[in-house]
Amino acid sequence: MKIGKTLVSADEIEAKLTEMGAAITRDYEGKDLLLVGILKGAFVVMADLARHITIPVEFDFMAVSSYGSATKSSGVVRILKDLDQEIENRHVLIVEDIVDTGLTLHYLLKNLSVRRPASLSLAALLIKDGVERPPLEIKYEGFHIPPEFVIGYGLDYEGKYRNLPYVAVVDSVD
Ligand code: 5GP
Repeated sequence: MKIGKTLVSADEIEAKLTEMGAAITRDYEGKDLLLVGILKGAFVVMADLARHITIPVEFDFMAVSSYGSATKSSGVVRILKDLDQEIENRHVLIVEDIVDTGLTLHYLLKNLSVRRPASLSLAALLIKDGVERPPLEIKYEGFHIPPEFVIGYGLDYEGKYRNLPYVAVVDSVD
């Protein structure tokens, strides 16, 4: 595997997370905010985004796996790790690394909304353009990227490259 072109640089990510963190701080001032990161990919975004939020927040994580091949989402989602906390009457912000088919988030919104949170919103660093997906309101969005398979900043190729500080395409697979 070769790391291809950089789509979003570390500096661009940092600047965008600063903006997103400021917007979240403004919108949730005085509210009890729970950030929910979707493992594994979102752990990097979650850690960096949270440090740009200046109100007190709590963290929780869910781990999900989508049935289907490694690079294609099937829409059938299995919860590998559920939230540790109850979310009834709490303001919940789901933090995702990337929205591709949107099926994972669509499922999670359905699953979490029945637990009756005070509000349930989405933040995603990357959104793939040109992909058909169910309607999803992403309240805090980072970058729109072409519908290519990307790695870095939490996103893996066969379990690796999550630690790249930028987002790149995969150039060639040997
Ligand atoms: P969706 O349900 O929106 O199709 O995709 C959800 C998950 O698929 C993402 O959270 C991410 O883990 C994975 N995914 C989607 N697109 C990519 C990609 O381009 N690269 C990597 N490494 N994972 C992706």
